[in-house]
Amino acid sequence: MREHDRLFIGGEWAAPAGTGTIDVISPHTEEVIGRVPDGTPADMDAAVAAARRAFDHGPWPRMTPAERAETVGRLSAIYAERQQEMADLVTAEMGSPILFSVFGQAAIPQMVLQYYVDLAASHTWEEERQGMLGPVTVTQEPVGVVAAIVPWNVPQFTLMLKLAPALIAGCTVVAKPSPETPLDTYLLAEWIKEAGIPDGVVNIVPGGREAGAYLVAHPDVDKVSFTGSTAAGRKIGAVCGEQLKRVTLELGGKSAAIILEDADLASTVEGFKMASLMNNGEACAAQTRILAPRSRYDEVADALGAMVGAMAVGDPADYGTEIGPLVAKRQQDRVEDYIRIGQDEGAKIITGGLDRPHDRGWYVAPTVFGNVTNQMRIAREEIFGPVLALIPYEDEDDAVSIANDSDYGLGGSVWTSDVEHGRDVARRIRTGSCGVNLYSLDPNTPFGGYKDSGLGRELGPEGLAAYVEHKSIPRPA
Ligand code: NAD
Repeated sequence: MREHDRLFIGGEWAAPAGTGTIDVISPHTEEVIGRVPDGTPADMDAAVAAARRAFDHGPWPRMTPAERAETVGRLSAIYAERQQEMADLVTAEMGSPILFSVFGQAAIPQMVLQYYVDLAASHTWEEERQGMLGPVTVTQEPVGVVAAIVPWNVPQFTLMLKLAPALIAGCTVVAKPSPETPLDTYLLAEWIKEAGIPDGVVNIVPGGREAGAYLVAHPDVDKVSFTGSTAAGRKIGAVCGEQLKRVTLELGGKSAAIILEDADLASTVEGFKMASLMNNGEACAAQTRILAPRSRYDEVADALGAMVGAMAVGDPADYGTEIGPLVAKRQQDRVEDYIRIGQDEGAKIITGGLDRPHDRGWYVAPTVFGNVTNQMRIAREEIFGPVLALIPYEDEDDAVSIANDSDYGLGGSVWTSDVEHGRDVARRIRTGSCGVNLYSLDPNTPFGGYKDSGLGRELGPEGLAAYVEHKSIPRPA
């Protein structure tokens, strides 16, 4: 049991203003495994004030990028050393299979941190331009106090996409983790303190929607970076629009994997374990629409059904587990509702369905639906669980048009024996990323969404650009 009765504000373990608490419940045992304060508006005020002070008067924005990189590099080294602890903790909080967790919940966040530490040295922070009217110095300055609001599915990864570039740019941060997964941020706060990041540069207040909404609208916040649902993203975008606050939104998805005629089926279907079902299918970029040529539809249905039906569902702490429990009862209900909706819409269950694999814990059987049309709700709405929709297509143009016929535009993939051709097809998909024979995110390339999947980009130099303001200083020739 991890009990925390304090909040990380101004570099101290501060007493919360209220008395409310959040219970963290194991999705596997349904037992309480942790407790943290439930942040209130007064706590957000204190955290924003600390971040504001650190930005307006503290050393952080005035240090050179190299000095900041040295400090954040210490955090990265601690993170690298202790990442197994982080993986275990996230698995305990939200049910991520440990095999995925060591990579996606700990190693990748650390790689992102190190990527931005290294980028500080090569990034052009200031340049001299010969303008058309005379010489101009163009500088990049930190955008200010950043509100970082993250979901529960990849809590460290989504936080690090914000924290790492914000810190390197010289911003200060108030982070609000999800109520389902606050424990990992306490471990991170310990490491932040140990690394010697100055007081008030990072502040962390767990809380729910109201606390998040209060933080977004806070007049002393300069930029909001949000990862979560499209519904919440729209509200946050509206507030930021009204206040003309800088905003980055990473939202939902309903990504398509296109299997081309010439694809090697065995390796393609094996690839879907990661591309479509990573993290129990609780992944924004999961390829949950599988597009198969009609000529190979039955073959794909058999292979996909066999692969998904054989996945090991169980204790997420077990290294043999491929699918763990969903994060909460609410999520189990939601995913099961979609399985009912799919049946009502006339789709056919190839494997899985409503029989729960375990009585205790929030498990759902990994499920594949066949006979799906792209108009069905199970093909249009984000389910956020281990449920795949197999959709037939007639020819390549039809496949591209089905893939693009979505309100979302986050990820995608093309599976083929001809990688060059696969890349040409990928260029036609209106999403922020589209893999060929795999789906992955790389720390040094941009990630984000077209359409309802968001605004702006994270990762890569593009992710750093989201935390700077450009300033021109012209002078006489
Ligand atoms: P959610 O939108 O309900 O909550 C996300 C976070 O925002 C939580 O911390 C929550 O407390 C907070 N929040 C909710 N409403 C808010 C508001 N109006 N103002 C301020 N804060 C608010 O989403 P969730 O259920 O926690 O997470 C699942 C969603 O996240 C899925 O839709 C998934 O696709 C998306 N997601 C997207 C990405 C990406 O990079 N595109 C990554 C992971 C998850």
